[in-house]
Amino acid sequence: MRRNILTGLILLFSSFLTSQDLIRHCGTTHIPTNATEINTTPSYPRLNIEIPIVIHVVWHSEEENLPDNVLTDQIEVINEDFNRLNPLTKHLPKSFHKKVGTPGISFCLAKTDPQGNPSNGIIRTKTQQTDIANQSSLSNGDRRIKESELGGSSPWDTELYLNIWIGSRSDGLTGEATFPNDPDETEADGIILDFSVVGRRPDTDSPFNLGRTLTHEIGHYLNVFHLYGSETGCFNDDDLVDDTPSQFGPYFGSCDEEVSSCGSKDMDTNFMNFRDDRCLFYFTKGQVDRMLQTLFTTRYALINSKTCSELKPLPPDPLRLAPIVNLPNGIEIPLRTLNEEEYTLTLYDFSGRRIWRQDSNPEHRYVILNSEVHSNIYVLVLALKDQIFSRKVFIN
Ligand SMILES: [Zn+2]
Repeated sequence: MRRNILTGLILLFSSFLTSQDLIRHCGTTHIPTNATEINTTPSYPRLNIEIPIVIHVVWHSEEENLPDNVLTDQIEVINEDFNRLNPLTKHLPKSFHKKVGTPGISFCLAKTDPQGNPSNGIIRTKTQQTDIANQSSLSNGDRRIKESELGGSSPWDTELYLNIWIGSRSDGLTGEATFPNDPDETEADGIILDFSVVGRRPDTDSPFNLGRTLTHEIGHYLNVFHLYGSETGCFNDDDLVDDTPSQFGPYFGSCDEEVSSCGSKDMDTNFMNFRDDRCLFYFTKGQVDRMLQTLFTTRYALINSKTCSELKPLPPDPLRLAPIVNLPNGIEIPLRTLNEEEYTLTLYDFSGRRIWRQDSNPEHRYVILNSEVHSNIYVLVLALKDQIFSRKVFIN
């Protein structure tokens, strides 16, 4: 179903391109059925957010076995793009300047594996399977690249690491990602990239030579959609972000002039469009809000993973160790294992709205009254001076 929509789009828009043009084909074309707009700007604490990555290089021919420096360059690219350090920002049309957002998210190759052993965050697997990145098992449809038993490489804990698989593919897609909490997704969580779009290779003439395919796919992984939504047209679903203008369909190729559709100028050079790498260079504030909401809710364990640090005993998580107690008039949170003297405890709802907040008290004991919350899922965030812990809380 998803692939059919994609094929339709490619056929529609390929008609504007010459046969020599190589265009971006992203495999993440749908919008999850449970996706909603965020109505308020999340007020999460802006701390250093660092996401650990494990890269699975699953190679058949030598050229697919990308060297370490290509992979570390790729990490450098996303660190620039998610911190607004990328030099192309000067090309941004003036009317969009105020809309540009800074995710403030950093990435590392994981320094610790799920067993706590030192790691460089790169797993190399030689496979007998050609074009493994788009091959599935005939028996159950599982993606081969994501499973060791099928010739690929099984994921590390997908809650604690962003798993990225790199391999060759024959279907022309440059990349694809899973959305957080997608009810229709059965695949292992993470991103698949074609090996040819990885890293920074400005001296080559490939349109995908600056590593921005991964930037785009991480956008999806953090719950951001294509600017035109999942179907072309001005009145169909769009990307559920307020500050991106309505856009008729995807833009491919180069970005030599300003473009408009649906009665307004389009953000064709936004990372979530399909332009060539040299033409993609910003997220909007609304897109950033979606990312932060994701990181503090459905993907909150990534922030707590701590595997970007050198091997050392993980600090005890005072929130996980807190036995939340139901009282007749609310819930009690006793932070018994917390030694810090200065911290803030905050409760957010899933849209990122702050519901309740208390600063440190000497007893490390807190009560949230029934009158302050409804029956729902919340996120409790403990912000220390240089650390953050979060935990989902179900309140009946
Ligand atoms: Zn995409």
